[in-house]
Order: sequence, then structure tokens, then C-alpha cells
Amino acid sequence: MQLTHSTAELVDRLAGTPRHRRAVVMTMGALHEGHLSLVRRARAEVGADGLVLGTIFVNPLQFGDPADLARYPRTLDADLGKLASAGTDLVYAPDLPEMYPAPMTVTIDPGSLGSELEGVHRPGHFAGMLTVVAKLLIRTAAGVAIFGAKDYQQLVLIRAMVADLDLDVRIVGAPIVRDPDGLALSSRNRFLDPGQRDRALGLSRALTAAQAAGAAGAPAPAVQAVAEDVLAAYRVPVDYLELRDPHLLGPVTERGEAQLLVAAAFGSTRLIDNARVTFL
Ligand code: AMP
Repeated sequence: MQLTHSTAELVDRLAGTPRHRRAVVMTMGALHEGHLSLVRRARAEVGADGLVLGTIFVNPLQFGDPADLARYPRTLDADLGKLASAGTDLVYAPDLPEMYPAPMTVTIDPGSLGSELEGVHRPGHFAGMLTVVAKLLIRTAAGVAIFGAKDYQQLVLIRAMVADLDLDVRIVGAPIVRDPDGLALSSRNRFLDPGQRDRALGLSRALTAAQAAGAAGAPAPAVQAVAEDVLAAYRVPVDYLELRDPHLLGPVTERGEAQLLVAAAFGSTRLIDNARVTFL
């Protein structure tokens, strides 16, 4: 596996591989099995002869809270070991001046969805995220990019950006990887104390209960109520619990597919989770 911090070197190393055989996985480091599942999916997309590229960059533009940015874990050496063993060919880890050589004046506007759900609690987050994703898509010129469904709203907005701006890349959404007890893996889980971690289990339990209720024929308000009850039983400090259509645009219809999204703040640690609910 090769590592570069330089964009010029990145472009050099990519030159031998045509666009459609390059797959990129973008991360902020502090890697866990969820990230590595994306790397494996990237390999499956481009095959043994393709090039799997991982990027590591903690993007200040998408952090509203300076304290959150300051404490975001930075574990480059361990990350490189994990990326290598998952089959990454090349890692691009630019520093701040390499990513943003000049102050940004133009950024990507996520539209109204950018100020809903996560956007209510993290103003500017999605504009910052889309801007760095666009830069990384342009710099890597990958034919396929893999993102986790863990950040569901992010995935929806990236798909919208790619469609609206005619970007030449295929976006693949990969399933959420969880601990055996159901907690969605997150780089922030390490900040939970044992009591908070126990309560955080309520997130995935609420989603699972809601899925079961939907499958058993419960209508949307009842599904929502089932999830609320579980969250209350676990004493989860809920930020929001919303049942939406899969594109996150409108209210859920009584039949078909919906997405249930939840967020909670355990002290200063914010966790998100989501699941598909199918209404009979
Ligand atoms: P991050 O570095 O945590 O911002 O995330 C980088 C990529 O990994 C994003 O596409 C995330 O959606 C994805 N990701 C993070 N956690 C998980 C997880 N538990 N399962 C699947 N993908 C994940």
C-alpha cells in the first residue's frame, strides 16, 4: 500500500488506472470495521486489477463546534495498518493547506435538506461535507465512490450533488456495520462511558422494534410510537426521531418503504442511526 500527502503525487499514482477502475472510500480516520467494509466493497466494485483508494482528512469545514473538531480522534498509524490489511492500494491523506490552499469563497449548497434533521443541530455541516467530497471526487477522479448508510442523510445529499452537478461518478451506499449487540460502529463510540453505552443501545433497539412493527402491519404513527417507547425505556436523550420517505423529501406514505432516522446526545457525544422500515 502506498501513502501520499501530496495531490500532485496522487495524480501521478492514479495515472496508470482508468477512471472506471478506480474506487474511492473517503474517511476522517479513526477507522473501524464500518470503514473497512467500505474498502472491501470498493475492491468488489473494481476487481483485483482495479485501484482502491482511501482518503483520510478531518475536514474542519464540516465541524460547527471547535471542541468537537479538537477532540476528533487522530490515529493515522493504526488507520494505515487497517487500510492495508483491508486491501487498500493507495491512501491520500492531505494536510490542511494541501486540501485548502486558500480560504474558500465558493462552497456547495446542500439546499433545504441541509438544514433539516442533522442540519438543525449542525448548521453548515452538510455544506462543508459536500464541499470536501466534491474536492476529493475531482482530485481522485474515481469512477465509483463508496459511502456508508450509517450517515444516511449524507448519502442522500451526496447522491443529489452528483446528479445535480452531473459529476461522473457512481455512488454506492453500503450497509451499516454494528457491534454484535446492535450499536452502530462510530469513531465517537470510544467517548461513551459504560452507562452511556448501555443507554445508546436503545437507538438500534428502537429501530429494530420499529421495523418489526412496520412489518407486522402497524401504520406510521404506531411505528413511531413503538420506537419512542424503546428510546424512553433506555433513557436515550433523543434529538430527533423522524420517519421519512427514503429520499428524505416528504412525509412517509402508509405503504412501501420509509427511513427511520434517530439522533441522540450522550453528554458531548452525538450519535446517529437509521434503518429502513417497510410498511405492509
Ligand atoms: P467517517 O470517517 O466516520 O466520517 O465516515 C467515513 C465513511 O464511513 C462514511 O461513508 C460513513 O458513512 C462510513 N461509516 C461510518 N460508520 C459506519 C458504519 N458503522 N457502517 C458503515 N459505514 C460506516
